[in-house]
Amino acid sequence: MDRVDAVVIGGGMAGLIAAWQFTRAGLRPVLLESRGYTGGLVAGSTIAGVSYDIGAEGWAVRIPDTEALAGELGLTVEYPRAAPSWVWFDDGPFAMPVRAILGIPADLGAPDVLTALGVEGARRAAELDSRPVPETLPADLGSLVEQRMGSQVLGRLVAPIAGGIHAADPHLLATEVVSPGLTDAVRRAGSLAGAVALLKGDGPVKPVVASVSGGMFLMPQTLAAQILDAGGRILTRTGARGLSRGGEGWIVNAASTHRGVDPALPPEPDGDPLDLTAPRVVVACSAVTARPLLGQVIDVDGPELTPGAPIAHVNLAIRAPGLDDSPRGNGMLVASGSTGVQAKALTHLSAKWPSLTASCPTGLHLLRISYGRGGQQAQELSVEQAVADAAALTGVSLRADQVVDSQIIHWTGALAPTTPETRSWVQGLHSRIADQQGLGLTGAWASGSGIAALVPHARRTAERLV
Ligand SMILES: Cc1cc2nc3c(=O)[nH]c(=O)nc-3n(C[C@H](O)[C@H](O)[C@H](O)COP(=O)(O)OP(=O)(O)OC[C@H]3O[C@@H](n4cnc5c(N)ncnc54)[C@H](O)[C@@H]3O)c2cc1C
Repeated sequence: MDRVDAVVIGGGMAGLIAAWQFTRAGLRPVLLESRGYTGGLVAGSTIAGVSYDIGAEGWAVRIPDTEALAGELGLTVEYPRAAPSWVWFDDGPFAMPVRAILGIPADLGAPDVLTALGVEGARRAAELDSRPVPETLPADLGSLVEQRMGSQVLGRLVAPIAGGIHAADPHLLATEVVSPGLTDAVRRAGSLAGAVALLKGDGPVKPVVASVSGGMFLMPQTLAAQILDAGGRILTRTGARGLSRGGEGWIVNAASTHRGVDPALPPEPDGDPLDLTAPRVVVACSAVTARPLLGQVIDVDGPELTPGAPIAHVNLAIRAPGLDDSPRGNGMLVASGSTGVQAKALTHLSAKWPSLTASCPTGLHLLRISYGRGGQQAQELSVEQAVADAAALTGVSLRADQVVDSQIIHWTGALAPTTPETRSWVQGLHSRIADQQGLGLTGAWASGSGIAALVPHARRTAERLV
């Protein structure tokens, strides 16, 4: 059995950050990753010779830690070009209100809100939101918006954004996870619009997301390189399957993995065994594998996890002069129930990110056409369908023979929504793990929502164990 300083299970962003944090304290961690690459849901590829993100493309800037980490890693941060997002309804597209959180407007009288809701709709929402705030507010985003602003605001403004970012119905999303502090701000401001205004502050609207210049995928690549430079080890195609107390504190039973039948699930660790013992273990793998591992040492009983949507992207490199003026800003979301297109979103990647604009030769555009809503079955995808959807959404005539290169990427189940039930289950897990000396749990599902929340959580988890 190998004795090591620390074992980190899972080589996505959370595991890489935890391992990197260990190296900052002079430790030499071993990171186990069951797939053949590190980075998990942050991954890069090349299309028409241009490197770009096929997974997460950035982080929410409301939590400053990811930007700070980028600086520590020597990476340059970039912000998307200032442009509104659009939303598509069968009755016509419109630009989303700019001063808003998850589509919830800060001012129900703003011109962009009136365009989206109509004068009468905006008036009704304002009237509802002027009612006294009750003692108890609903815990899920959908019910909160419905109660304070009505179903039109929920359906036309919030559901498309929540569906786009979290791939889930707003009723499945815990408000405190997707917009921390919002519920408390409603109480302080006396209205939901007032709460959004309070949280957004005055002054020009700042970008809500940021990324790494050159691609978000550079962050896990750099983390991995710095872990190796500091003497850490990264074992890909090696999955953890056992966790127990003993040896130097903890014993991790791992084994080499083989590609499973379902590429959406982490590969099974059923090959050559590898046993490690360490005083510190961080579990940073996906919930589906973390749960049985943790179940070997603590009680993991809790709700069944809501499966993530069958997310898939058709990425196109296309030569189309009609897109030169980026007619839909940085992209658009498609309202659920729309029949005019099959896609659920379009991102004009080469217009959105300055470094990508610079990498694309003149006239070449990178589009990401997204499919797969929560609760849907995975659908057959094709470049032809994506081109037809992109043409409808942008209002530009596009043909398949203008496509220079394309990639179809599946992320089935990758983004399981954090429901109020899963949130309290995860809180319970954390308090049980706090009693286990030398054991830590992190990862997007265990720390809140997305990269912004996992970065400080993963760093703290490792720091606590040093
Ligand atoms: C298409 C897409 C777009 C996204 N866009 C954004 C965005 O713009 N902004 C944002 O903040 N977030 C975004 N996200 C979410 C974000 O990517 C994730 O929240 C984050 O990357 C998760 O990191 P993680 O390390 O917690 O998990 P993962 O990336 O899932 O990593 C977990 C790793 O553990 C490994 N593993 C599993 N079991 C074992 C085992 N037994 N032993 C060893 N290893 C194991 C897995 O193979 C995997 O590599 C997006 C996600 C997707 C899919």
